[in-house]
Parts: sequence; structure tokens; C-alpha cells
Amino acid sequence: MSDAVVIVGSGLAGYNVARELRKLDAAVPIVVISRDQAGFYSKPMLSNALAGKKTAATLVMKPADKMAAELNARVVSSTAVDRVDADRRELTLAGGEVIAWRDLVLATGADPIRLPLQGDAADTVLSVNDLDDFARFAEALDTAAQGGAVQRVAILGAGLIGCEFANDLLARGIEPTVLDLADRALARLLPPQASARLQDKLQAAGARFRFGVGAQSLQRGPEGLVLTLSDGSTLQTDLVLSAIGLQPRTALAQQAGAQVARGVVVDRQLATSVPHVYALGDCAEVEGLLLPYVLPLMAQARALAATLSGKPTAVAYPAMPVVVKTPAWPTVVCPPPAGAAGQWSVSETEESVEARFTAIDQPEQLLGFALQGKAVAQRQALAQQVPALLG
Ligand SMILES: Cc1cc2nc3c(=O)[nH]c(=O)nc-3n(C[C@H](O)[C@H](O)[C@H](O)COP(=O)(O)OP(=O)(O)OC[C@H]3O[C@@H](n4cnc5c(N)ncnc54)[C@H](O)[C@@H]3O)c2cc1C
Repeated sequence: MSDAVVIVGSGLAGYNVARELRKLDAAVPIVVISRDQAGFYSKPMLSNALAGKKTAATLVMKPADKMAAELNARVVSSTAVDRVDADRRELTLAGGEVIAWRDLVLATGADPIRLPLQGDAADTVLSVNDLDDFARFAEALDTAAQGGAVQRVAILGAGLIGCEFANDLLARGIEPTVLDLADRALARLLPPQASARLQDKLQAAGARFRFGVGAQSLQRGPEGLVLTLSDGSTLQTDLVLSAIGLQPRTALAQQAGAQVARGVVVDRQLATSVPHVYALGDCAEVEGLLLPYVLPLMAQARALAATLSGKPTAVAYPAMPVVVKTPAWPTVVCPPPAGAAGQWSVSETEESVEARFTAIDQPEQLLGFALQGKAVAQRQALAQQVPALLG
């Protein structure tokens, strides 16, 4: 029987658990398998790379061979895992190689959700969820520029990723139009006043917003692309970027016979329902919580590494504020737990917005917050007042 810990996925979740495990155990064989190039990069930088003049190549902080050396691990790149056999504790790579494991860690991330658009240009819609996506996006922007076309980008989704890309495109001199079925920006994370201020600032910088409309079809036209919206209106654009959400990748977990809900169901030790199979990162649903952000996956990686090195450890989630990378109007949000009974109270000045979400039955108990402009400096102080999500 193998004594290896085999990690599928070389994103922040996969590499962080490998790093944490290597700190605790110098000897255990570690294998990291990825269907991408397995270079180490920080995914959040994909949505401010244009402003930083980064390319897909310069976003890579360490290529796969350097990661292998640093981790004293085998790193298998550009190779998908095709099959998982949990009874035999083996997986099969796309090329046919069989790799056995002592413990299997699924860090397979999530797929961008695709809108079922009609029209002869529907297949040109891009989303940016990894380095290869970013390379395609950057190339498409350059191609439009070379064609002499006005650089118009329609962004589907006014959530965190959509607003970040809108801000980043402004840095390239492109005026994006952001569309959403909701009636405001970051509707699921911010109170209305904070959404309005973010929208105002992005508009002042050149972005446009259309709310309460969905995209229905995308056609090629004489002057670029024509996006038809659910209210019957049309929008001329050169490129459509979709940022409407993510769907955890659960196929390998399902093959292994593990329980799956929205994500791969794991307990606080990141264990699936199948012995010796674990999951973390964007693919994992921890005690019903799907939190596709960096701080949760770092906490998961530390806990899982301890468990894998023989010290069973439950993940703890303190309050974890998310920085929205919109320099036009700096925003930090620590969303209240889903379904929490409470209310927002908002104080605004020219230079800041401070929104506190407090419990209905305990008005002094802070459950979440949103800070904008100069108020973002209070992030640490407020985070300390918010109860842990998983204590
Ligand atoms: C544009 C953007 C900006 C973001 N900004 C922020 C931010 O500012 N702050 C924040 O906290 N979070 C941010 N996030 C979210 C954060 O980046 C993610 O939560 C995190 O990077 C997810 O890491 P992961 O390792 O779980 O998944 P991924 O990075 O998606 O890695 C999944 C890995 O699994 C591999 N894989 C999948 N299936 C297979 C298979 N069958 N065989 C082999 N390999 C496979 C893939 O090749 C990949 O290596 C952002 C996300 C995006 C897209």
C-alpha cells in the first residue's frame, strides 16, 4: 500500500495544503497533480492584472519544477485525473498512469457558471478563472485593439469579480458596461447605500451599469458583437466577459462515492464521507459553508495538514473580511452569516461609508460589516468584534 498523500489541484488550496504538510512532515511522499501548468500564482491577481501590466506569464510566481523542488514533492502538470477508485485507493491519470494513495486530497476548485446564451457568437463569451483564461482574455483585448475597434466590454454580473474586472478594464482605457439581473452592484454582499456608492465611483471613472436585465443572445454584427438583453434592448460590444458565479467541481468526489451537495461535503476535519478522501478550497462545502475565498482555504489547509500528519484538527473560521479590489472606491466586506436575523445601519460621509450589521435581538452584537473609502482602515478593529463563523 502507498504511503503517499496525493493532492489533485495546484491552485492556492492544493499548494497551501502541500506547503503546510511539508512543514509538519519532512518525509511523507507528496504528489500534486494538475491539469494546468501547475505554476504557483495568486488567483486574486487575475482581476487587477491589467492595471499592474501583468501577463499570464508574469503572474506565475514559481513554475511547477521549482514548486516540486521547494516541496520535495512530485508535481504532475498538464495531466487530468480521469478516474478515482476509492476502494483500491488509486487514481488514473489521463495518460493511463495509475497512482496509489494513503490519503487523497481533492483541491479541484470550481468552474465558472455559463449562461445558456443564444446566437452565433455565444461561444465567444469569456470568463477568467485561471491563468489560461486570463491569457485568452488579454489576447482578445489586444486583438480588438489591433482591429482598430472601439474597446467595449460587456461584463455579465455585477458581483465581486464583475466589479473588479470593470475597475481593472478602466485602467486599460476601456469603458466597460456591467449588467446584472439584480437591481444593484454586489447585491448579495453590501447594503444598498454601499452598492450605490461603489456604482457612483465606478461610473465616475467611466463604467456603465445596467440593472434588472439579463443577457439572452450574442450575435456577430457589422461593427462587433450585438448583445440582446431580456428587456429587448441591445448593446454593441467587442467582447463579453461572464462573471456570474462558480460551480464547485465535484465529479472526482462523486466517482469516489463521496457525498456531494453544492460542493463536496466535508466535516470540520475536511474529511469527505469516504475514508482517506479529503477536500478543500473552492470545491469543498465545510459544514454547509461554501466560502470561495483565500482566507478560508488557508485555514482549511493548516487544519488538514495537521490532520494528515497525525494530529486530527478541526478547521476554525474567524471573521474573514474580503477586500474588493476596486481602487475607484476601496471596499471591504465581512458578510453576515446567511439568514442571520439582523439589520444594517449605515453612516456615510463624502469620504467613507461604514455599514454595520447587528443582531435584531442583541443590537450591540456586530454580525458583519461593509467599509468603504477611508473607513476601510477600521477593518481589523471591526473584524475582532464579529463572532467566529466556525469557532
Ligand atoms: C478573478 C478572481 C479574483 C479573486 N479575488 C479574490 C480576492 O481578492 N480575495 C479572495 O479571498 N478570493 C478571491 N478570489 C477567490 C480565490 O482566488 C479562490 O477562492 C481560490 O483561488 C480557489 O483556489 P482553489 O485552489 O480552491 O481552486 P483553483 O485555483 O481553481 O484550483 C483548482 C485546481 O484543480 C485542478 N483540477 C481540477 N480538476 C482536475 C482534474 N480532474 N485533474 C487534475 N487537476 C484538476 C486545476 O487544474 C487547478 O489546478 C478570486 C477569484 C477570481 C476568479
